[in-house]
Amino acid sequence: VREADWRRAAELVRGAGDVALVCHVAPDGDALGSMLGLGIALRRAGKDVVASFGDRRFAVPRLLRFLPGQDLLVPPADYPAEPELMISFDVPTVDRLGLLAPNAGKAAELIVVDHHPSNTGFGTVSLVDPGAAATAVLVEDLLGRLELPIDREVATCLYTGLVTDTGSFRHSSTTPEAHRMAARLVGAGLRTDEIARELWDRSPFAYLKVLGAALSRVVLDQGAAGGAGMVWTYVTRGDRAAHFLPYDECEGIIDVVRRADEPDVAVVLKEDDDGAWQVSTRSKGGVDVGRACTLLGGGGHVRAAGFTSHETPERTVARLRATLDG
Ligand code: 5GP
Ligand code: MN
Ligand code: MN
Repeated sequence: VREADWRRAAELVRGAGDVALVCHVAPDGDALGSMLGLGIALRRAGKDVVASFGDRRFAVPRLLRFLPGQDLLVPPADYPAEPELMISFDVPTVDRLGLLAPNAGKAAELIVVDHHPSNTGFGTVSLVDPGAAATAVLVEDLLGRLELPIDREVATCLYTGLVTDTGSFRHSSTTPEAHRMAARLVGAGLRTDEIARELWDRSPFAYLKVLGAALSRVVLDQGAAGGAGMVWTYVTRGDRAAHFLPYDECEGIIDVVRRADEPDVAVVLKEDDDGAWQVSTRSKGGVDVGRACTLLGGGGHVRAAGFTSHETPERTVARLRATLDG
């Protein structure tokens, strides 16, 4: 991040009365945590803050409902059409703004806070650092430059972003600075045990049944990805309907599937309530799944990426396999 961009961002935020925040569609812990963390701090500083994300079905995923600051959220229909100052979080490309892309297009100023290497620089000010473990890292930096305090609520939001994007400090993105930031946030009084339980140790019983269905048809394709190998499975709308399990409860299935040690690549295809397939891909590092998913119309990081498909799981996996080999 250029020093001039940090200064310009701080100046814009200080001068603004109203601030409109946005994160990517189907928000994860980093997207929502970064947005709400800054939102809480700006509201305390006397700003008028609204926050949203551009999903047609506007709902915070159940496992993120413990995050403070959700009273800042407004549905996309109630979002300012031409914001004076808009700030986006964890959004690499305009299409990831979903329904709120037109609002961003009309914003007088748009500060983009992100850590995706694929970020297109679509804002008027770019706070983008692909070396940052999470967007939350950049938000902590921005709060420091604004001289705004990080209290327990803000810390809970930022820690959630950090801990989800580093996979509890297990992924290669876990830098010494990520641990130092965690130490600072824990110092603000948050409960790491409670956050970990909310994020990873709570699922409805139905999750176990749907996980079982997904695992019953898991495939190990050792020839895929140039011999690096791929493990894959899928979850249908029918699987979920049989057990009344909401779509967003299936996010953790990829973390079970990727435990298979033999292949480098793990894939889980999840059918949403509209019949579209959201494809989650993970790599142990030898294969760049981000590149493949970008070629298939999605995006992401080298080791964690995704895209949307409207074909059957078999055809989608064949397409992904060809892209990984190509
Ligand atoms: P997940 O598999 O957890 O849904 O997503 C992993 C990562 O892949 C996300 O952090 C995001 O960067 C990226 N990603 C997932 N789905 C999409 C998509 O449809 N489009 C884009 N551009 N990126 C995606
Ligand atoms: Mn994200
Ligand atoms: Mn992120």
